[in-house]
Amino acid sequence: MLQLTRIRRPGVLLVLATAAASGNAAPFSLDAAPGRLPKDVVPLDYTIAVVPDLEAKTFTGTETVTLRVRAPTGRLVFNSLNERLRDVRLDGKPAGEVVSDDHEQLTTVTLNHVAAVGRHTLTFAYSGTLETQPHGLFVQPFNKPDGAHAMLLSTKMESTDARRMLPCWDEPAFRATFGLTMTVPVGWATVSNMPVARRSVHGSLATVTFRRSPRMPSYLIEFTGGDIAALSARVGSTTLGIWAARGREQDGSTALANAQQILADYNDYFGFPYPLPKLDSIAVPGGFSGAMENWGAITYTDQALLLTKSSTMQGRQDVFSTQAHEMAHQWNGDLVTMGWWDDIWLNESFASWMAAKETALRNPQWKWWEARTPTKRPRWTPMRAAPRMRSSSM
Ligand SMILES: [Zn+2]
Repeated sequence: MLQLTRIRRPGVLLVLATAAASGNAAPFSLDAAPGRLPKDVVPLDYTIAVVPDLEAKTFTGTETVTLRVRAPTGRLVFNSLNERLRDVRLDGKPAGEVVSDDHEQLTTVTLNHVAAVGRHTLTFAYSGTLETQPHGLFVQPFNKPDGAHAMLLSTKMESTDARRMLPCWDEPAFRATFGLTMTVPVGWATVSNMPVARRSVHGSLATVTFRRSPRMPSYLIEFTGGDIAALSARVGSTTLGIWAARGREQDGSTALANAQQILADYNDYFGFPYPLPKLDSIAVPGGFSGAMENWGAITYTDQALLLTKSSTMQGRQDVFSTQAHEMAHQWNGDLVTMGWWDDIWLNESFASWMAAKETALRNPQWKWWEARTPTKRPRWTPMRAAPRMRSSSM
């Protein structure tokens, strides 16, 4: 994730990255990873089908989750928000009580039988709410280049909003594969983490199934659908796409050239080629501030990706460095994910340092590192002592 307001201060983040490199982090342990959800049940694979209703701002869905039960249990606990589940079954057998608590953002399924250690299949149907702000699956109104009013759907999940689109184990230590199907207006183009596997048209709607994702945390799930179009190119075996509202895709030509350079350099630098078949970058018109590194489908607010003849040098620099930041996350954050959010600083600081390195490499005339040195140091002020907590509030 990159907030636009952070772009100009990676120097501070570099210090943090250096500090981290000298530390001794323990190897990852699922049991030791912080989190609220019990670790006795872990998701392995999700199959999700969602049918949005743009007018009503709601959606219906079905979900199948392959689970690994690590210790016998009589209940399943996972995240949900503003969703109602029905016909909940484990291995085809109806569950007992199902309680979705929106305050706690949890659904608790009490089973009629204790689930033994091993693989199980959880299935249910559900309904939810399309958001109007960039949290979960949201509706974004925008004006097309010809001035016509339109809507598109997009997603933003980090840190804890995947649960608004699909009930799930919405913590970064729970990596699973995701198979997503979306039903949208027939004229829409659709983008997700993986390429489209199949598309069927029925009347005014199309149902699109994407190829299954690699194992990843839920906060990296992406879907965008709307009257959008792309420019594309290839780097090795990877297809790059720059998506924008149809009619504005040519404004992504600089971003496409940037992405070709950055991907080639990062494949070399990381010593591990970008592992997905494609990498899309999506300009969400007026979407949200900054950009989000969803694996294989990075979303940007349109001004952070698209450039016109009247764009300033500052705008061109912001586009390149933002792309370099989000593409660094495709390895650092997506391929390898922190166990919990207390290590997000390392994820972000490395992406910012890598972005500065790459921006300087490809644009030496910008003297990027020099520009990273703050001309005005922020005045240091001591933190005020926190008010002493009363014992009754602890
Ligand atoms: Zn970031």
